[in-house]
Amino acid sequence: MTEPAGLSHQLRHQSTALIRRLRQEWRWALHLLLPPACFLCHHPLSAEETGLCQRCLTDCQIRPPAACIHCGEPFRAASSVNHRCTRCQQDPPPFDNLLYAGLYQGALKQAIQQFKYHNQPRLAHPLGRLLSTRCLAAMTDFQPDAIIPVPLHPDRLRKRGFNQSLQLARVLSRELTCPISATLLLRNRPTPPLKDLRPFEREAVLRHCFTVQHNISPRRIVLVDDIVTTTATVRACSNQLVQQGHRVLVVSLARAPREST
Ligand SMILES: [Zn+2]
Ligand SMILES: [Zn+2]
Repeated sequence: MTEPAGLSHQLRHQSTALIRRLRQEWRWALHLLLPPACFLCHHPLSAEETGLCQRCLTDCQIRPPAACIHCGEPFRAASSVNHRCTRCQQDPPPFDNLLYAGLYQGALKQAIQQFKYHNQPRLAHPLGRLLSTRCLAAMTDFQPDAIIPVPLHPDRLRKRGFNQSLQLARVLSRELTCPISATLLLRNRPTPPLKDLRPFEREAVLRHCFTVQHNISPRRIVLVDDIVTTTATVRACSNQLVQQGHRVLVVSLARAPREST
């Protein structure tokens, strides 16, 4: 005997709803029995927290007493007012401005190292939200048309398994309701790890490293990086984009002072 089509559809619908509800309840039960822990302090997370607890997120937002108004270079405590750093006065960056969530130290440094080098891409969500909160608070006159992650060379991507900047860009894209253009900018050759190079060596290595894939009408672009130190990478990327008529705002999870290299 064949089942009437309407009845079969109704049964399917009811069983899907039941499975969804069971899954949801199972997740709640699991959360109560085995609450997930904060990646940094290992305290149990509340149902609203993912990856990092609120206290660690607050600790990730340490800002310098003063900074460069263009490239965000943190100044030592002695210079207590924001101003344009010597480097920006002598060689202005091609980007409009640089925003960051916190200094590359303490909790934020630990979280980025877990995220990037210890294969913890689940940290992308809390770190990406931290970055988007900072962007939304500071982006007053820059309404972006596109978000571009600093690209990794395919060899590095294969080795690491994910592009940390693309993961952050995905969260930003959702939070800022702005599309990602992940293929506009390409890294056309591999570079050695930049943390092992001195500032002038970084610039030499990165000079012809990035290319813009195709011409599109001028856009206001948010360029996403995880850590900015000398600004060599974001300057090299922005140079290519600005040459095509785009405007660039750099956003980075963390900022390290140039002299830390
Ligand atoms: Zn914590
Ligand atoms: Zn500067």
